Amino acid sequence: MVLIDGKKVSAEIRDRLKQETEELKEKTGRTPGLATVLVGDDPASAVYVRNKNKICNELGFQSFGKNLPEQTTEAELMSLINDLNGNDEVNGILVQLPLPNHIDSEKILLSIDPEKDVDGFHPINVGKLAIGNALLTPCTPTGVIALLDYYGIEISGKHAVVLGRSNIVGKPVANLLLQRHATVTICHSKTKNLEEVTRQADILIAAVGRPHFVTANMVSQNTVVIDVGINRVDGKLTGDVDYDPVSEIADFITPVPGGVGPMTIALLMENTLKAFKTTL
Ligand code: NDP
Repeated sequence: MVLIDGKKVSAEIRDRLKQETEELKEKTGRTPGLATVLVGDDPASAVYVRNKNKICNELGFQSFGKNLPEQTTEAELMSLINDLNGNDEVNGILVQLPLPNHIDSEKILLSIDPEKDVDGFHPINVGKLAIGNALLTPCTPTGVIALLDYYGIEISGKHAVVLGRSNIVGKPVANLLLQRHATVTICHSKTKNLEEVTRQADILIAAVGRPHFVTANMVSQNTVVIDVGINRVDGKLTGDVDYDPVSEIADFITPVPGGVGPMTIALLMENTLKAFKTTL
C-alpha cells in the first residue's frame, strides 16, 4: 500500500508557483493578486482566510484581505465585488463561504468576474468544465487529480467511482475524471446496492461527509482510495474512509489529515497564477 502524501505534493506545487511568480515578476514587473472576502466572524472561516493570505505572501502574491462585519448588506458586498472585479491588481476573488443567511450566496457568486473566479464555482466556469475547456476548475477536485498524476496513477480507461454529487466536490471531480478518459460512476444517497458499485472501482473518491462511511467490504484489492471527507469526531479530524481496514486492501490511499486537505490551498494559488497569466 502506498500512502499518498498530500502535504508533500502541496509543498512542491507551492515551491514551483513561488519560483514561477518570481520569474514573472522579474520579466513583467507585475505581481499576481488574490482578494479574500470574509463576512462575519465565524472562527473556522477566519482561520481559512488567514491561512490563504499567509500562503499568498509566502508565494510572493499580493493579498487583499477584505474582512466585513456580519451585518454587511448584500448591496454592500456586491459593491465590494464590483470594485474587485475592476481592480487590475486583483486576479483572483475568493468569497469565503458560508455567507450570513441574509445574503444570497448564489447572487454573490454570479457577480464575480468569471475570469477572477479562482474557486471555479461561477456557472460560466462550471459550464466550461462540463464541455471540457475550463481554465479555472474547483480547487479540491483539481487537487485530487493532481495527487493521482503525481503518483503516476493512470486515469484513462479506469473505472472511477465518485461517492457524492455536490457542486463543490462530487460533480466537478467526476467531470475532471471524465475529461481524463475515466469511466465514471457517480453515487449519492439514493444509489442502490452501493457496495456492489464501489467494489467495481479502480479509483474510489469519497466525498460524502460521513466519518468511516467507506468500509473494507466496499473496496476491492488494488483500488486507489481518495478520501476527500473532513469530519470532526471527538475533536479529531477524520475522513469518510474507515482508514485502518481499508488501507490493508487498497493499493494507494490518502490519509486524513494530510491527504487531499493540503491540496486545496495549493490549487487555489495555482488558479490565481493562471488567472494572472491571462492578463499578461
Ligand atoms: P455535501 O454534503 O454537499 O455532499 C455529500 C454528498 O454525499 C451528497 O451528494 C449526498 O447525496 C452524498 N451522500 C450522503 N449520504 C450518503 C449515503 N448514505 N450514501 C451515498 N451517498 C451519500 O458535501 P461536500 O461535497 O461539500 O463535502 C463532502 C466532504 O468533503 C465533507 O466531509 C467535506 O467536509 C469535505 N470537503 C473537503 C474539502 C477539502 O479541502 N479536503 C473541500 C470540500 C469538502 P445526495 O446528493 O443524494 O444528498
